[in-house]
Amino acid sequence: STKVQFALKDKLKEVFGYNQFRGNQEVIITHILERKNTFVIMPTGAGKSLCYQLPALMQEGTAIVISPLIALMKNQVDQLQALGVNASFLNSTLSKSEANKVKKETLEGKTKLLYVAPESLTKEANIELLQKSNISFIAIDEAHCISEWGHDFRPEYRRIKQIIEAIGDLPIIALTATATPKVRADIQKNLKMEDANIFLSSFHRDNLYYEVHPKKDPKVQLIKFIRQHQNKSGIVYCLSRKKVEEVAEFLRINGINAQPYHAGMESGTRMANQDAFLNEDCDVIVATIAFGMGIDKPDVRFVVHYDAPKSLEGYYQETGRAGRDGLESYCMMLYSPEDVAKLEKFHKDKSVTERENVHILLQEISYYANSSVCRTRQLLHYFGEKVDHNCGHCDNCKTKHTRFNAKDKILLALEATFETEERFGINHICDVITATPSDYVDSYHHNELNCYGKGKDEDNQYWESIIRQSMIHGFLTKDVDNVTIIKVTEKGKEFQKTPFDIEFTQDYQWPSELEALN
Ligand code: ADP
Ligand code: ZN
Repeated sequence: STKVQFALKDKLKEVFGYNQFRGNQEVIITHILERKNTFVIMPTGAGKSLCYQLPALMQEGTAIVISPLIALMKNQVDQLQALGVNASFLNSTLSKSEANKVKKETLEGKTKLLYVAPESLTKEANIELLQKSNISFIAIDEAHCISEWGHDFRPEYRRIKQIIEAIGDLPIIALTATATPKVRADIQKNLKMEDANIFLSSFHRDNLYYEVHPKKDPKVQLIKFIRQHQNKSGIVYCLSRKKVEEVAEFLRINGINAQPYHAGMESGTRMANQDAFLNEDCDVIVATIAFGMGIDKPDVRFVVHYDAPKSLEGYYQETGRAGRDGLESYCMMLYSPEDVAKLEKFHKDKSVTERENVHILLQEISYYANSSVCRTRQLLHYFGEKVDHNCGHCDNCKTKHTRFNAKDKILLALEATFETEERFGINHICDVITATPSDYVDSYHHNELNCYGKGKDEDNQYWESIIRQSMIHGFLTKDVDNVTIIKVTEKGKEFQKTPFDIEFTQDYQWPSELEALN
């Protein structure tokens, strides 16, 4: 009602000092106040925190916020306390007496927001405390951590639902900045909130300019790139601590004001480097992916992935730290197949399932790098967003690519997907089309299919590109439950009945063609 709306606006102004809600915030908050399960998917920086902070202040009792990172928790609690809100956290960094004070205030109903790490939440004593307290709702931040397919899978997140049930019948609000359709389904299933309303904001960030370069002479490529953004703030992500130190040192020797940041550093130095970056005393921070969560620096002008990222989710999250102020910002990846192979090797001692997951995530990275389809479009498609136009300003949009009429190719891809009964992945479908021998082909007698070998004039890589572009255009799709399986969509079936001319772009002849461009 309008009365509630006025009250919300008043509180927004009174506590946070803002005049207006952003995007979906108001609808989301109203929904939470109606005690309904809520699922918020919003890009980083869009204002997720307010979605649970404000309703916590509008209700009796304490809202619990589950958050995976201690630094992130502390940040938010500090900010809230500065605004005069009674917020605190429970985690392993508190002394016994500090923890007791927090517990007492929660029992007394004074705490409005209580941040807890999943590890602390599972402690028996804490569960008892929360059972005795008046809890308004539970917010689960970084909810993608619940899914093995999320980029920061945390096994402890899997126990959250059980504990919430032990505490009481409480509304849940799950929030994340990255969730592919598969991860979304996982989150809802794990939290038993299939009934939740999903509030999905677009992930499109028009001010981010994506580009990929084949990694050839990375230090030189990096320097060249940074010099194009002289004296601007930027983040350079590397995979290992050693590499972080090495690259930071190299940049400093070359007159660039850079500092390293990684979890292996002494915490005083690490914090000092982070502060130097935030206060503009240093331009470039060279970091492992440990850096950035909860960092709110609006004018980061570039993000470089010196090494291949682990997944497109992680990549989008990390590049999303650029250009929070809405101004043009550049995201550059140095890609090499060797880096991807290295990442696979890191996981060689893990379980078969884990290795398969890693493989699938990395395959997406490789395809993203090799593809000449608009980068923005590829990324948004990956997150399940329907996009029917190119961004116009990524490297692929700015380069002229060979285009061809893909009608017959799409038809063959559809045929092969149907004939293999929509039960296989991209690799197998390509094998069948190109008549590439494999155990699967043998054991399923797929060499007897009509489509077998019909596309053998082209190689598997070519057909992978056809299938992926067919997915981007909505003719094919990944199965929601098993993302390795390709299925034909309604649009694909329509296309079979009434095919039409449609242009696809040819992939890079990697890496020679791109090298020539850079
Ligand atoms: P997220 O958690 O989605 O990454 P945050 O909650 O950290 O984003 O919010 C990003 C920034 O936007 C913060 O500085 C926050 O104070 C600001 N913000 C959030 N909501 C509003 C609003 N309604 N009006 C103005 N600023 C807002
Ligand atoms: Zn583009």
